[in-house]
Amino acid sequence: MTASKTARRSPTNDADNPRRTLLRDIIASLRYQADLGLLGISPSPTQSAPAGAGTKTADKLVQTFRDFLVPPPPLPDNADNRPSTGRGERSPHDCSSLAELQELLNGCQHCALGAKRQNLVFGGGDPNARLLFIGDSPGHDEDLRGEPFVGKAGGLLDRMIKAMTLSREEVYIANIVKCRPPGDRDPQESEGESCAPFLARQIALIGPEVIVTLGGYASCTLLNDSTPITRQRGNWRAYNGIPVMPTFHPAYLLRKPSAKGDAWRDLQAVMRRLGLV
Ligand code: URA
Repeated sequence: MTASKTARRSPTNDADNPRRTLLRDIIASLRYQADLGLLGISPSPTQSAPAGAGTKTADKLVQTFRDFLVPPPPLPDNADNRPSTGRGERSPHDCSSLAELQELLNGCQHCALGAKRQNLVFGGGDPNARLLFIGDSPGHDEDLRGEPFVGKAGGLLDRMIKAMTLSREEVYIANIVKCRPPGDRDPQESEGESCAPFLARQIALIGPEVIVTLGGYASCTLLNDSTPITRQRGNWRAYNGIPVMPTFHPAYLLRKPSAKGDAWRDLQAVMRRLGLV
């Protein structure tokens, strides 16, 4: 259908069809703008153009508009960008237990990490723990086992927890990001953002008295503060009213044992806060 055909339709038909009326108005407007050279596509003043070139350009644009007016396909279920796991409209806030939240996350494909994981690493420990440790993201070993901190860094974290007179079963251990980033690279900001509503609900359901963030990524992300971990550590902060102690990541302590003294001082402050000493 050409523009001129559209323009010739009877007024009665146009009045019955709002889309045709709209198209006719667009045609008139485009012709007018092309004739005035306002579309940026009509001949420049230095170029001579055949008579009616503006009208031809307008006809092309009308065709484009006509294609554009074809009704769009229906929107997908999660078009409003709410955290969706592909299982309808349930959100982390609808979950009233950690088991329910984990079940919701199990199907999560909210960021690209979901497609590559072997296992989701939800976190584990006492669901009513007084103390919550938060790391950055699972590595190779955690991805295989579906449990947090089970590799070399996990071995050191176990010893740190023991030194606090606690056991792994008495605390809760989680990560900011629940799936392994490929090649054990650092998680990206957007990946932390995808997991954020789930982590927020996880923390609320556990209701810890104290949170220890392990390393720069966890501390910066949870506290929304880009200060380097070397300056954040050892200073009490708060997340939704819960005291937070940022400290070094065990993987860093394995690489730099001389920093263990600082980390131990941070953990002793936590022990005092929990009345463990
Ligand atoms: N490092 C982390 O931050 N989390 C894990 O679960 C393992 C290693």
